[in-house]
Amino acid sequence: MSLPMLESCIQYPIDDKTLLEVVPKAKDWALMHGAAMRSKSNFSPDALNFAPFILTPSSFPRKEFEKAVDLQCILNELMHFVAHDDEFLTTTLAETIKVDEFTRNLFNVYKKVLANGIQQPLSLGLIRSDLMLETCCPEITGKKCAYCCWKQVEINTIASGFGHLGPSSKAIQSFVLQELDHSDKISKMPENKALSGLCGGMIKAWELYGNPNAVIVFVIEDISYNICDQRFHEFYIRETKPNIKVLRKTLTEIHEQGKLGKNNELFIDGHEVSVVYFRAGYEPGHYHSQNEWDARYLVECSKAIKSPSIHYHLAGTKKVQQALATPGMLERFITDPEKVKAIGKIFTGLYSLDNNESGNASYEMALKDPERFVLKPQREGGGNNVYGADIPEALKSMSAVERSGWILMERIHPPITKGYMIRADGPMPPPLVDLVSELGIFGVIIGDSKTITTNYQAGHMLRTKLSTANEGGVAAGLGALDSPYLLDNCC
Ligand code: ADP
Ligand code: MG
Repeated sequence: MSLPMLESCIQYPIDDKTLLEVVPKAKDWALMHGAAMRSKSNFSPDALNFAPFILTPSSFPRKEFEKAVDLQCILNELMHFVAHDDEFLTTTLAETIKVDEFTRNLFNVYKKVLANGIQQPLSLGLIRSDLMLETCCPEITGKKCAYCCWKQVEINTIASGFGHLGPSSKAIQSFVLQELDHSDKISKMPENKALSGLCGGMIKAWELYGNPNAVIVFVIEDISYNICDQRFHEFYIRETKPNIKVLRKTLTEIHEQGKLGKNNELFIDGHEVSVVYFRAGYEPGHYHSQNEWDARYLVECSKAIKSPSIHYHLAGTKKVQQALATPGMLERFITDPEKVKAIGKIFTGLYSLDNNESGNASYEMALKDPERFVLKPQREGGGNNVYGADIPEALKSMSAVERSGWILMERIHPPITKGYMIRADGPMPPPLVDLVSELGIFGVIIGDSKTITTNYQAGHMLRTKLSTANEGGVAAGLGALDSPYLLDNCC
């Protein structure tokens, strides 16, 4: 199927002379405004490279963007109720944890915490709902242009990144549009307050904890390549609330320096901790030994407010996403039929591969028509999925029981946009290429099992990759920062 193309923000191509002038300027602008990362190939804690970016914003239908923004609070609510439904989490993950050691370890922490009694009833959800536009060919729909409606890729409940790089992308591209004498286009790029929105959630949680001397801890990887997207959060908090100190600790350091106080307060390196914000802990490689698991358990047992708490982490697994898409399931969590209908529309086909009749049927379906699907394990962070033609071999190499650690998802076919991808050491002038995008909408929610006290949508991020690439993580190296240019006249 040849993918339909969305109308571009400005006319392409841009002539070489203009590109040679504006691209180096845009790279410097990006670096000097912190749209940057540490280099993986040439790492130095003292240096930054600009993060890859798309020179001008990519088109996105306004109607679909606004629908996604409008749905976010309902998705926040859904995840909150899912996270607090012990019976649902236990049943849904029952088969998965038999074969997936990482999810089993998380689940064991969860069950131990439940058995001991939850010390902190409040959870802080800093959520990102990721989505792509699905296209239908004009020949099929009979409409003039490609009809697009958005579909959910996944929901992240842990380490939802790009709160800084999202707004930063808009800033770079606004600068570029201005340099290209297209300032008139800037007003069609939606406002993006992701950083203040996410940090506002942490500050609110800090206030709810109620000790003005308590610190916020960011749980970090051994090396943070995506450092700007964490430091800007820290700097924002410090600037807005000068008396809140942010500490950065690995799970290994928390194991060495952490302990519980008399009333289950979390103390790390002598500081009482109000809020723990996980930017690590979502993949097996972050737990080098039992020590890191013990550290996770210590945090979960404490009365610090976690983002996410362990039940929120489990609610964000791919298996839970697949279970929520089964007919009738949303009604368990959401009573308003209009809301149920609105969420139901964003699911693309999601199928269980459990060791039972329906799982076997999905297995046969995938073998018969692999190009239709993406095969996903219970992992986060990119680079773990299997696509199209590679699916049969992957599935055949697993036992029927092992397959239940994975889910099968219909592949989404987003429309193409044209643009210039700017990368460190990339060709100059850059070539005009075909691109596809993935939008992430941020949401913030605070509450306990019965009551939600805070719930808002908090900005967005757009990641764009070559249309031929399967995955587009920016930190992983294939994607680039981008922001939406809203099209009004899309049908
Ligand atoms: P992760 O937790 O590793 O980020 P995702 O489910 O987000 O896992 O998948 C990683 C990437 O794979 C996405 O960012 C997207 O580019 C691509 N992808 C995932 N699901 C689909 C799908 N159903 N159709 C097309 N591409 C997909
Ligand atoms: Mg993802």
